[in-house]
Amino acid sequence: MTSFLPRHIGAWGEDRAAMLERVGVKSLDELMEAALPASLTRESIEGLPAARSEQEVLERLATLADKNTVRTSMIGQGYYDTVTPAAIRRNVLENPSWYTAYTPYQPEISQGRLEALVNFQTMVTDLTGMDIANSSMLDEATAVAEAMLLARRVKKARNKVLMSEDVFDATRAVVDTRADALDIELVESDFRQIDSDVAAIILQYPAASGHLPELHELETITGRAREAGALVIVAADLMALALLASPGSWGADIVAGTTQRFGVPMAGGGPHAGYLAVKDAHKRQLPGRLVGVSKDADGAVAYRLALQTREQHIRREKATSNICTAQVLLAVMASTYAVYHGPDGLHRIAQRIHNHAVSLAERLSQIGVPVTSTSFFDTIELEIPGGADRALRHLLTENITGWKVDESTIRLSCDERTSADVVDRIVRALEGSGTEADKTGIDAGYPASLERKDEYLTHPTFHRYRTETLLMRYLKSLADKDYALDRGMIPLGSCTMKLNSAIEMTPITWHGFASIHPFAPAMDRLGYLELIEELEAWLAAVTGYDAVSLQPNAGSQGELAGLLAIRGYHVSRGDKKRTVCLIPASAHGTNAASAVLAGFRVVVVGTAADGSIDMGDLEAKIAEHRDVLGAIMITYPSTHGIYEDSVGDVCSRVHAAGGQVYIDGANLNALVGVARPGEFGGDVSHLNLHKTFAIPHGGGGPGVGPVAARSHLAPFLPSHPLTDNHTTGSAAAKFPGAGAVSQAPYGSAGILPISFAYILLMGGEGLRMATQSAVLAANYIATRVDKVLPVLYRGPGGLVGHECIIDLRPLREETGISVDDVAKRLIDYGFHAPTMSFPVAGTLMIEPTESEDLGEIDRLCDALLQIHDEARSVYEGVWPPDDNPLVNAPHTAASALVGEWSHPYSRATAVYPALTDEVLTNPARLSAATAGKYWPPVRRIDGPYGDRNLVCACPPIESYREQ
Ligand SMILES: *Cc1c(COP(=O)(O)O)cnc(C)c1O
Repeated sequence: MTSFLPRHIGAWGEDRAAMLERVGVKSLDELMEAALPASLTRESIEGLPAARSEQEVLERLATLADKNTVRTSMIGQGYYDTVTPAAIRRNVLENPSWYTAYTPYQPEISQGRLEALVNFQTMVTDLTGMDIANSSMLDEATAVAEAMLLARRVKKARNKVLMSEDVFDATRAVVDTRADALDIELVESDFRQIDSDVAAIILQYPAASGHLPELHELETITGRAREAGALVIVAADLMALALLASPGSWGADIVAGTTQRFGVPMAGGGPHAGYLAVKDAHKRQLPGRLVGVSKDADGAVAYRLALQTREQHIRREKATSNICTAQVLLAVMASTYAVYHGPDGLHRIAQRIHNHAVSLAERLSQIGVPVTSTSFFDTIELEIPGGADRALRHLLTENITGWKVDESTIRLSCDERTSADVVDRIVRALEGSGTEADKTGIDAGYPASLERKDEYLTHPTFHRYRTETLLMRYLKSLADKDYALDRGMIPLGSCTMKLNSAIEMTPITWHGFASIHPFAPAMDRLGYLELIEELEAWLAAVTGYDAVSLQPNAGSQGELAGLLAIRGYHVSRGDKKRTVCLIPASAHGTNAASAVLAGFRVVVVGTAADGSIDMGDLEAKIAEHRDVLGAIMITYPSTHGIYEDSVGDVCSRVHAAGGQVYIDGANLNALVGVARPGEFGGDVSHLNLHKTFAIPHGGGGPGVGPVAARSHLAPFLPSHPLTDNHTTGSAAAKFPGAGAVSQAPYGSAGILPISFAYILLMGGEGLRMATQSAVLAANYIATRVDKVLPVLYRGPGGLVGHECIIDLRPLREETGISVDDVAKRLIDYGFHAPTMSFPVAGTLMIEPTESEDLGEIDRLCDALLQIHDEARSVYEGVWPPDDNPLVNAPHTAASALVGEWSHPYSRATAVYPALTDEVLTNPARLSAATAGKYWPPVRRIDGPYGDRNLVCACPPIESYREQ
């Protein structure tokens, strides 16, 4: 049986030996001994499995999937069974061109997914009746919570938020957690009275019970809110909106929800894309990522992320939100579902769902089962005095699960998979639950006043690709515009773009994982529960912590959860005033944003000249805030990619002052198997499974950001009120204290099999070797380029960790060539640029990971060195500063084809810069050397233009013709 390790790690044998020699060490062990402070180093890590073959891992996962029981789910509560068109599953979800891409920060090489995201935004704005939508939120519950925070920012002086009683329990739980952290007064209300101290009201449409009021009732409420100056937040079901009047049409200011039922499997709770849409007035307050339309250097329409100045990378603690990784892959799936079905198809699906719900209500009431819902879209409530459990048991005999509201009430939600047969089975199961007296018949449906009258999805994109051939080609044409790991390395520091192997991805689309409702009875989720327990134990072993929660569905959410745990701990000890969080100046932007959302005040600690934490400043800040010091948030290795040897000292000083230590574990790829943050001073950390543990980035999400803590913080880790197909209150949750941070108890459970497979395939020893190999690759690059492109920071032994920062500021001073020019020129060489200007402006941070082979690493080094030479040519006057291959990069095929070539460098230099004269003059070799080039579809994009002329929906076709 084949071992996986040699397939995951890129450099072996002679190549590895050459790299070690270049770095000046004899072995991987010697490298780590020199780089990593001895006080932190671990010889081996207990509690991790031995490596298994691909076949063995697949069999293990098949067994786990088998332990989950797939039934017909009528549970609803925000998760609905759906039909993922096979063309979308195969061409998007299972296609590395989509799932291995990175967040579109380099827009010129991301036009395909940016277009798919603009489709998403157009779909959401159309259906909700709003002006602008982002792409995307992490789930419905957090989207509603973010909507509340948005309203609070708009209505600064008001601290009260009213929420309907009839919202999903998971939404209530998450909104409650987030309101509590910021002392927002959250009050349950029927909106009969809305006072002038209310910032916003939150209602659900259709309500959690399924109920739909008359249009005038909704308008009365929104009118009252308007009079009181409060914003109206509506949590809306997009599928229902295919039939019903949009919230925008009856007075909503903000609409939030999920796109899960647009073809994205329930997957045990996620991932799926949440959405948030607002009226134009609030667009600059919109959290999360927003794709906008702009133009490139030739004036062509081009997409890029808009209004990034709102984001935590720039605004830090003043950002609109901490969301970084979102749900791009799932947003692409949902928008493609709308492209595939078009407005008429969506209308048909929604109508069918509704018809089945009506038929179910009628048939049940005919057999005397009391149906209390008369006005609904897809969900009905049954009132069976004292008989809820019995009714659910009867449903199980027909392999159907429902939702228990209380001892006498159950809810059944219809979905895209509901059929006449399902209705028959339900009626059969509940035959005995009815009474003669209740055989009343029912007049059910949704109010005529709510009938949707306006058109939606009118853009040609939602009408053009109806045949599978056309859809397949559309998706291929989009994927071809993008640069993903299937083309070459993506050396992004801090992002760990390692291999996401096919074997790891295989199980996630299996029925036994994909078709499980997160609130299904525990007996139906045994496979998931076993997988989760085992994965938690492995992650505890890797990190040296005592408890792990897999609930957070991105790194940012793990940070929030970890900080809430610290807050909960202080409060439990009567230390309410410990609300200062120290954060080094070089920290990732999410750190500061998360601290604020958890109710902390951020105090920045300076960076010393060598890049480490300035111990003098730390001492001063600790002294200044000693009585109110809540926490420090550090990253290890530091965001400079350095194993600072002062880390133990930093932790003990903060502890001595009564603070807790948060270690950002996003850089765990430099620690797995060699050191454990829970041992060298951390109290709590989050990990990014989408970086270190092989979950693909999906073009900007999904993510999984588990939070791990020492035992004293464990009681304050995330809990969840919903388990076992009814609301149990927090007592049933594993950790009693903290409340929910995600909509589902185990967050994005559906992609946990990826990390589970990764750990089992690698085994403890393999994980350790991966870390060592990643550190070797980074040091090799540092050694190769340092002479001309200086490495900014080095740690013990003159070595770097798993990434290195090269300083381009001297180059800029000398030649005028900027870090932007270098990044864009790398595209012409066939590379995705490294991380730009983080954590130091004017630098590139390179992280090769363990998965790249020496050939690819050398190709990158060669390209960087050659670009440096090109910059020298500008300096030496060979090329003018305003017309050279660097400032004009990237070069499209079109730009090289134009009739008259007016630049002082050749067309070949523009588009094939790495070719030597020898190759250029040998046709046979030239054919081979020019094959497979990545051609960017647009030239350099004008970002500020797009922000000034903000357009975030599909541009009209004429805008292309105008070109
Ligand atoms: C990626 C990263 C984060 C944020 O993780 P997301 O999943 O994108 O929210 C936080 N800290 C560091 C150091 C990171 O690299």
